[in-house]
Amino acid sequence: MAPYGPGAPPPGGPGAPYPGGPGAPYPPGRPVRIPWIARTRAELRAALANAPHPIGFVPTMGALHAGHASLIARARAENPAVVISIFVNPTQFNERADFDKYPRTEAADLALAGAIGADVAFIPSVEEIYPAGFQTSVHVGGLTEPLEGAARPGHFDGVTTGVAILLGLVRADRAYFGQKDAQQLLVVRRMALDLGIGTEIVGCPIVREPDGLALSSRNTLLTPEQRAAAPVLRRALLAARGLWEGGERNGESLRAAMLGTLLKEPLATVDYVSCADPSTLQELTAISGPALLSMAVRFGSVRLIDNEPLA
Ligand code: AMP
Repeated sequence: MAPYGPGAPPPGGPGAPYPGGPGAPYPPGRPVRIPWIARTRAELRAALANAPHPIGFVPTMGALHAGHASLIARARAENPAVVISIFVNPTQFNERADFDKYPRTEAADLALAGAIGADVAFIPSVEEIYPAGFQTSVHVGGLTEPLEGAARPGHFDGVTTGVAILLGLVRADRAYFGQKDAQQLLVVRRMALDLGIGTEIVGCPIVREPDGLALSSRNTLLTPEQRAAAPVLRRALLAARGLWEGGERNGESLRAAMLGTLLKEPLATVDYVSCADPSTLQELTAISGPALLSMAVRFGSVRLIDNEPLA
């Protein structure tokens, strides 16, 4: 049986080469552990055949950063086997250009995931996930309509179809998703429940830069000026949170506070601001329980999202 867990050598034994090459150790000086790379459905089946349960799964689109790392670390802490996937899912992109320019950093991703303790990295091609003749789509209803669903038609059908395939292939006991994509987390949880997928969907907190910007693979696409301006999202969320903590319970006032902060930043173009019910995502007028503040803001062609739960 192939060894799993901390300290496991690569499939070919300690020091064996592996396809792709891990690059430099990350963080520097730490021993590099190399995930078992599976590029096809069959290779994934082989890699998981003897894996101990529970299996923890972290689906990603790669360009891994400390936000992804926190999910992998949580999966590592809670499961004897950890699988990540790196798949830039074309069906969830609205614009071909956005898909094409999405950062792809496989060698660094493998080094980071291995250093944190991922056992298996599933890195399928588009044809492996959507082979010739593919004709299935998973659609979640009401939850996908507002916010990101309204701004990005078809986006969530791409997400849920892609995630359903990955969950079906990996058959993990737990899958870890970031609160950073709050609506995605809700939608995936709904889908898993509705379809009886049997994988527990675990939500993990947002990891931020010291200046408050939520980590995102898209941050690397910002110009230095846009990057300097981007923490305005966090400031806008905190402005509304401040009002809420002071007793404000009018949803429109919180939306206005977020918008007011964002409009002061000339490089920012606001897609939407929202103060919604955190379980239905319907906009709130009077806030009588928990709420979810969220926003999408463009800097040039780079679109950033962020949110803040109020509870
Ligand atoms: P992505 O590669 O952007 O599809 O993200 C893969 C997973 O990482 C998703 O569940 C995201 O919500 C999560 N994630 C991305 N950025 C962060 C972050 N800053 N903090 C926590 N989780 C994150």
